Amino acid sequence: MDASTSVVSEFDLIRTYFTRPTRHAVLGVGDDCALLQVQPNNVLAVSTDMLIEGRHFFAHADPRQLGHKCLAVNLSDLAAMGATPRWATLALALPAVDTAWLREFSAGLFALANRFELDLVGGDTTRGPLAICITIAGEVPAAQSLRRAGARVGDALWVSGSLGGAALALQCAQGAVHLNAEQQTAVNPCLHTPEPRVALGLALRGIATAAIDLSDGLCGDLGHVLTQSGVGATIAYANLPRHPVFHELQHTALEQQCVLAGGDDYELLFTAPSRAQRTIEQLAATHQLPLTQIGMITSADTGLVVRDAQGQRLQVPRSFDHFA
Ligand SMILES: [Mg+2]
Repeated sequence: MDASTSVVSEFDLIRTYFTRPTRHAVLGVGDDCALLQVQPNNVLAVSTDMLIEGRHFFAHADPRQLGHKCLAVNLSDLAAMGATPRWATLALALPAVDTAWLREFSAGLFALANRFELDLVGGDTTRGPLAICITIAGEVPAAQSLRRAGARVGDALWVSGSLGGAALALQCAQGAVHLNAEQQTAVNPCLHTPEPRVALGLALRGIATAAIDLSDGLCGDLGHVLTQSGVGATIAYANLPRHPVFHELQHTALEQQCVLAGGDDYELLFTAPSRAQRTIEQLAATHQLPLTQIGMITSADTGLVVRDAQGQRLQVPRSFDHFA
């Protein structure tokens, strides 16, 4: 069947590409609403992320990678709350029914959903400029949720994985920097197929005092934690886990911009009392994920301070703002 000329109704489209057996739903796709049962003593953690063609991803982006990424960014928000992924709904605007595109997109989406036993329980499709909006819900015991407001003076500041790789890949795709093929292969997955740190978020229940996922850049996202916790922070730039490709580039200004303010990393930034250091180091080993102490929480009056290896204060760059 020719993809561009096939006639597929909205109901066929949903049945074929977006209906799978559910694991945690009383009732999934197919009625006016899904019916969902939360475990006793848990609360629902709910978040929505919208991705628009030309704004959040390039036109003609690989549909399988897109299916992965639009779910990964939502899973990352659940990870940042310490929530177990359970359910999602998908609202999808498509310029035309392209069955090859739909097959790839849903394959990317469900490959990731299955890894976390997440059920797609509803949604909507319409004709329009390509836009993907996912609402995700997870469960967490209310007292164990990881919030932005819990950081305390003297807490250590930690980050998972490495920083700046996605921003570097974007700079390369936009022609602002040249990377050789090997370097592109190293950074492109950071931008196109980020790994949500769900297992780490769950493991940080009862350990982290505050957490956020890095979607808009380290300094900006840390700023949310500092504001909501009523504290400041000092970061040692030399301690930041930079993507390995930066070591080859030796381009200080570009590196600082990507590492301090680059978006799309989807790593977890969290705070914890200093006595938790051994426990966190053990978590890093268990999860085979680098966890790096990058600074300390200070009192609010010092604000956010970033110091280089010589102790000089670096200017804190602006982070990505969708309305700037
Ligand atoms: Mg977030």
